[in-house]
Amino acid sequence: MSEKRTADAIIVGGGVHGAAAAYYLAKAGVKDVVLFEKEYLSSGGSGRSAAGLRHHFGTEVNCRLSQYNIECFPTLEQDLGGELKLEFTQWGYLWVAYSQESLTQLEKNVTLQKSLGIPSEMLTTAEMKKRWPYFNVDGMLGGAFCGKDGHINPQTLVMAYGRAAEKLGARVKTYTPVEKLLASDNKIKGVVVNGEEWSAPRVLLTAGPWSTPLAKTVGLDIPVTPERHNLLVTEPIEPFECPMTLCLDDGAYFKQVPNGSFFFGRDDQDEPRVLESGNSAKFLEGVTESVLKRMPALKGVRVVHQWSGPYDVTPDHQAVIDWTPIEGLWLNCGWSGHGLQFGPSGGRLAKEMFFGEKTFVDIHNFRLARFAENDLFMEPAFI
Ligand SMILES: Cc1cc2nc3c(=O)[nH]c(=O)nc-3n(C[C@H](O)[C@H](O)[C@H](O)COP(=O)(O)OP(=O)(O)OC[C@H]3O[C@@H](n4cnc5c(N)ncnc54)[C@H](O)[C@@H]3O)c2cc1C
Repeated sequence: MSEKRTADAIIVGGGVHGAAAAYYLAKAGVKDVVLFEKEYLSSGGSGRSAAGLRHHFGTEVNCRLSQYNIECFPTLEQDLGGELKLEFTQWGYLWVAYSQESLTQLEKNVTLQKSLGIPSEMLTTAEMKKRWPYFNVDGMLGGAFCGKDGHINPQTLVMAYGRAAEKLGARVKTYTPVEKLLASDNKIKGVVVNGEEWSAPRVLLTAGPWSTPLAKTVGLDIPVTPERHNLLVTEPIEPFECPMTLCLDDGAYFKQVPNGSFFFGRDDQDEPRVLESGNSAKFLEGVTESVLKRMPALKGVRVVHQWSGPYDVTPDHQAVIDWTPIEGLWLNCGWSGHGLQFGPSGGRLAKEMFFGEKTFVDIHNFRLARFAENDLFMEPAFI
């Protein structure tokens, strides 16, 4: 018997946001959810992520969503069935500043976070040195730290959401690219896959930076563009719970993950703005220099591999979570460099939007129209 090509909701893109949405919708009783992923689950930005989880944001809505995310992570492995290890750790997240401007921004962010009940704190360099004696704090002015922040395995996170959604009845179709969206009379009708039409009254676009060309197939322009970012992984060394440490001034970061490997990353605005991955020796040299300055103890640790993946960037580095002018088509994309950790809240919002419920936080600022209205909503804590 041929497969039924109708659904109550179609989700396009199997990164963390698509997989979490499938899970939340199926769990809430939506009978027929179909998720299409062009390769394997987590093959986009999600699986290339450094998977830093943090409360440290400078806008209230992101702080509130982070509180929900970080409430979910400790029990998520069990909640999603317990088959895949999510490697969740809470070794903290530290932002360091070398300039007065960055320090002032961190202080502002921490004041906001504290007002919302987030246990963040400002640290002097002496306090940092006491907690992490292996840091070189020369030239630093201070930092912002939250000990409830941490790490999760980004690939197993997405796969666990996908599997849990399937167990609840969702159809997760990997290696199945959506060729185009279908709309008529300003209403979404479905998608085209392998030349065949799949119909659904609601379609959620969670295709990261690929959302832009897909939206274009129904005449919708969304200002989400790709930005290539690199990351390298070292051989494992004895785990000593080094927090994710990020410098606002040069965009470099490092952290240890549970198997003992270190991840190094760094913002480089000269990287090509493309969807394709690709690595350069320039990244390896630049990031190593930045990180070793702060962590001289890592000198001599060997690099095992390097990868890159696309951020899906908007002009204000904030996501787009909104219904579009095409009835039934909604968006959750544009998460820039911080979207992995928003999987739980993105999934919850997708479910609330599907049912027309009041969302658990006010998401007005994430609306698509803000770009046309020139009412950008900058997130100061982005890399
Ligand atoms: C190097 C790097 C480091 C990062 N570090 C962090 C971090 O520390 N913390 C954090 O929270 N975030 C981080 N991010 C950002 C984070 O990875 C992204 O914001 C997030 O994963 C976006 O998830 P998504 O589900 O929206 O998109 P994606 O994960 O990009 O998923 C989109 C999916 O859509 C699929 N797709 C595309 N076209 C089609 C089609 N036509 N049909 C079907 N499927 C399609 C793609 O294959 C892909 O799997 C980092 C990203 C990178 C690249």
